[in-house]
Amino acid sequence: MTVQEAVTGARKIVVKIGSNTLAKADGKINTEFMAGFAEQCAELMKQSKQIVIVSSGAQVAGVSTIDRWSRRKDIHYRQALAAIGQVELMDKWRAAFSEFGIHIGQLLFTREDFENDHCTLNMRNTLFTLVDEGVVPIINENDSVTFDEIRIGDNDNLSALTATMWSADLLILFSDIDGVYTANPKKNADAKLVELVPDIAELRKSITIGDTNSFGTGGMETKIQAAEKAVSYGIPMILANGGYEDALIGLANGNRKGTLFTAE
Ligand code: GLU
Repeated sequence: MTVQEAVTGARKIVVKIGSNTLAKADGKINTEFMAGFAEQCAELMKQSKQIVIVSSGAQVAGVSTIDRWSRRKDIHYRQALAAIGQVELMDKWRAAFSEFGIHIGQLLFTREDFENDHCTLNMRNTLFTLVDEGVVPIINENDSVTFDEIRIGDNDNLSALTATMWSADLLILFSDIDGVYTANPKKNADAKLVELVPDIAELRKSITIGDTNSFGTGGMETKIQAAEKAVSYGIPMILANGGYEDALIGLANGNRKGTLFTAE
């Protein structure tokens, strides 16, 4: 299976967008990206696909709104920043999708919610209802209520949990790299994009994942964890670069590459 086949063959798609993709170099939210992304979602929805978005960026949006808190590291300020930024983030998403006549809905989850059957059932029902009505659910971690024990901590794992809860056909993680490489592409000119990962355990043996050797981001580990979760439920995952104008549509029409983790 190719990346293109995985996208064209999927009906229910969870797409995760990271803070790096959503923020511009000056730390402001990239509304141009959001407008283009909403247009691509609208295009796929016309082809009868259903989209659920997992969006990071609450804290980034908070910092760009209340500049004077940007250096506060204490947890109360981080959580307050998320509360401020989440509203800003959703305001921008609402504006982006309204151009295409599409409503959005906000869902904020914690790890505890996924561990509680009653909560999970309600979350699932809400997701199905929103999607059936043509609304695009936009999910983030409920950062202002989380503490260590109930924290998911990263939206890669949150998006995999969401994909399994909603029984998605495909999970797409957009990052600031094109996918998994055989070596760090920033340091090694011979590094090649791994386009297909049929066996994640094998991949783990063949590449080095870590803070300093994680192929351009500090987050390869959580991306591989997300792939392990999704694939173990039979959901393939694509890791791709969200930085292109046609990031999403480009995967569907074969113009963009990525790493596909397949589920047997
Ligand atoms: N929930 C965090 C935020 O919206 C982001 C977590 C992540 O990027 O993985 O700021």
